[in-house]
Amino acid sequence: MDNKFQVTVIGGGPAGYVCAIRLSQLGLKTACIESRGTLGGTCLNIGCIPSKSLLNLSEEFYKAKNLSKLGIDTGEVKLNLEKMMKNKNKSVDVLTKGVEFLLKKNKITYFKGTGSFKSKNQISVKTKDSNILIESEKTIICTGSEPVSLPGVKIDEKQILSSTGALSISSVPKKMLIVGAGYIGLEMGSVWSRLGSEVHVVEFLDHILPGMDKEISQEFMKILNKQGISFHLNTKVNSINKTKSGILTNTTNDKGKGSKIESDVVLISVGRKPYTKDLNLDKIGVQLDKKGKIKVNKNFETNIKNIFAIGDVIEGPMLAHKAEEEGIAVAELIAGQSGHVNYEVIPGVVYTSPEVACVGKTEEQLKEINYSYKVGKFPFMANSRAKAIDVTEGFVKILTDSKTDRVLGAHIIGQHAGEMIAEISLAMEFGASSEDIARTCHAHPTFSEAIKEAALSVDKRTIHS
Ligand code: FAD
Repeated sequence: MDNKFQVTVIGGGPAGYVCAIRLSQLGLKTACIESRGTLGGTCLNIGCIPSKSLLNLSEEFYKAKNLSKLGIDTGEVKLNLEKMMKNKNKSVDVLTKGVEFLLKKNKITYFKGTGSFKSKNQISVKTKDSNILIESEKTIICTGSEPVSLPGVKIDEKQILSSTGALSISSVPKKMLIVGAGYIGLEMGSVWSRLGSEVHVVEFLDHILPGMDKEISQEFMKILNKQGISFHLNTKVNSINKTKSGILTNTTNDKGKGSKIESDVVLISVGRKPYTKDLNLDKIGVQLDKKGKIKVNKNFETNIKNIFAIGDVIEGPMLAHKAEEEGIAVAELIAGQSGHVNYEVIPGVVYTSPEVACVGKTEEQLKEINYSYKVGKFPFMANSRAKAIDVTEGFVKILTDSKTDRVLGAHIIGQHAGEMIAEISLAMEFGASSEDIARTCHAHPTFSEAIKEAALSVDKRTIHS
């Protein structure tokens, strides 16, 4: 085989495989190296996809158990966790194979192995049974991220779990303690709570979902509380130890009060760190920042010419769609086009029930920079579709520039929030005002009418509340 390529992508996650496809579309001879054995990266194998599959399956279970309240009598609803996990694995399998098909279709050479730099233009790929040397004019590092633990706490994926272990528990734990109230912790907490676990969440800050609009995170915590999830805010974990009967976690709150929490399993979801271990970056002198992320310029190029980096391994939100956008942008830049990513419009979604979705600025961010803004809000309680199906929790909140009316951000908590946020993202990309949204005809009865009403509310002219 001719192992000379114009561009080589190391890592086959959303950053890497999307970038490889775009490069190939642009006529560049492209290779993709992936060590996992399957494509799709964290997202498809141990992240977005299996977690969303379990969120959906556990929600179906929860709903089925409560059907009699809606006048639908069933026999006893029982959980078959093994089958549920098989269904989750099937979704992962179908999608990862789908990516492999896409690479083939786009004539990308796929190396199943671990890539490391021999020199700026040479990458060695260690496969199961050989070492292959690739020559590449340009290389894009897309090696993603891995979970972090707490100091002195070893994740064994049996009792002390990262998100990876939490996606494959073989029997429903009686009690689960989650350290960290970010989106991964809350999604996994929702799954296991619906399946029957008593779930407690310890969070160092005074609110959940750090970085989200505070009004949304307060509402969200109230709702999750009602669903049976307990929160310990302003609380620090001091130690986590295995005992004969399970796990003992020692905590201290901001008033200095210590507590001991016993549980069957602990999920550590305190963040992720960039993964660059196997790349031999020292050899070629690629610079990292203090957090271990690869430093890049606005064209995603590292300090070493012709070596680029994108996705979780560089600065920015660790999200699959951000990684994909960067994949397209860097491919187009390499091909001489003007690819770019608008970091002001990267939506974020928490796929719980209800969902939480955001894009653009939060109210706290606008206050911090003394920006003059207006707020429009509309509750799902006054939305006819939500009322018709009795799913009325949450609201839409739109923030606009008080002079120009341009939309600066939007925050939604409610059914289908994750789908609805796309309307606002598109509006923001086009520089739309709340007036533009308010004058757009929205189908009735839909949840999205709440967006129109929130836009009307910016100038205090809502119709239905
Ligand atoms: P990755 O997906 O991590 O891919 C990097 C790949 O590189 C890996 O497959 C790795 O095996 C490979 N690799 C590493 N080193 C080498 C090497 N030397 N040689 C060859 N291959 C190598 N994001 C969302 O947007 N929405 C969600 O709902 C969402 N849910 C998530 C749920 C969970 C539980 C987790 C953990 C993450 C979730 N994410 C979500 C985040 C998302 O998965 C990541 O942001 C995304 O996968 C980053 O893409 P990437 O391509 O940069 O890195």
